[in-house]
Amino acid sequence: MKITCQEAAIISNKKEYKEASFKEKLMLRFHLIGCVLCTGFVKKNSQLTRLFRQARLQYLTDEEKDKMRKNLFSH
Ligand SMILES: [Zn+2]
Repeated sequence: MKITCQEAAIISNKKEYKEASFKEKLMLRFHLIGCVLCTGFVKKNSQLTRLFRQARLQYLTDEEKDKMRKNLFSH
């Protein structure tokens, strides 16, 4: 059930997109117990995802505002 740091990183990325299976999440968790390096990576990775989501949400809102503005002025 042992995985390498590289595999742990891949599973961590999949987890961010909710694509990791239960078994993969379990293997990742086991790996994190013994690996400080990956623990830091996983933490940063989920922070990054949160940032991306917030940024994208804001971007979409601006885009929609823009569309509305364009619609208003194109008639
Ligand atoms: Zn590791």
